[in-house]
Amino acid sequence: MTEEIFSHYDHRISCIDSGYIRPNMAAIYLLEHNEEIAIIETATNHSLSRVLTLLDKKNIPPSQVRYVIPTHVHLDHAGGAGSMMEIFPNAELIVHPRGARHLVDPSRLMKGVIDVYGQEKYDALYGELIAVSKNRIVEAEDDMEIDLAGRTLHIRHTPGHAEHHICIWDEQSKGWFTGDTFGVSYREMIGSDSRHIIPTTSPVQFSPEKLINSINLLMSYNPERLYLTHFGLLENPKNYAEKLRQRISYYCEVAQANRNASSPTEKIEEVMFKKESVQLNKIVPGIDSAQVHEILKMDLHLNAQGLVVWLNRN
Ligand SMILES: [Zn+2]
Repeated sequence: MTEEIFSHYDHRISCIDSGYIRPNMAAIYLLEHNEEIAIIETATNHSLSRVLTLLDKKNIPPSQVRYVIPTHVHLDHAGGAGSMMEIFPNAELIVHPRGARHLVDPSRLMKGVIDVYGQEKYDALYGELIAVSKNRIVEAEDDMEIDLAGRTLHIRHTPGHAEHHICIWDEQSKGWFTGDTFGVSYREMIGSDSRHIIPTTSPVQFSPEKLINSINLLMSYNPERLYLTHFGLLENPKNYAEKLRQRISYYCEVAQANRNASSPTEKIEEVMFKKESVQLNKIVPGIDSAQVHEILKMDLHLNAQGLVVWLNRN
């Protein structure tokens, strides 16, 4: 059981399966250096016990957690920020300046999601968001450096998926914690010599130009590896950057071509689903259609919604 929840990589980086929605869907990363800990992404309130289990297994007291760093304030990334800050008394919360106020007063974030999902589903997925006091938040300016007991983490602003998105560069591992900027590639999408990856264009701030620029920014550091929130370690990112850029452009073409369909969201989702099913089957032959559905359905539904919001802005 524990092996499925925790993965340990080089450079003292661990990946925790947060348990959000299904196994291996959303990750929380733990970075250790000289008795200090940075936690990147928080997933939801329900994920905190898994983080505490790992700290306990490693004999790390909660007081050693120095930073909690959600890449953006969507709730699969920052929904647990408030409860983490309560448990980790010495931690600072690092967040994009435009995300900070939503964590100080999470009522708008909660309301937005309850309006879409309803209260019952909201509670099951996220639970009550806990406010973070303002004096424990450090607003992450672009190019800011963070010192984790001598290990430098570099913050870059990476808009495109959301305006207030940041990615975190770890010089030591030559790796990026990418949040949603470098798309999603679940473990079920890993084939014998490649893996399938799709961009995430979910509502309400998707911007193709900004997202492609942010991918280019990440690649300009010549990363050797990426730590995807959805999901896990991705090596040789060069092989995937062009694929993602092409896919973002393709999604926009599909959206534009179906702008006047009677129900554009459904139509766009249907076209994307067919395309991605075929691609996934090429990379992971023999994957059955129920599994393809389970893996891609939710993301492509959100992608289609985000593309329609983008269409309406243009
Ligand atoms: Zn996400």
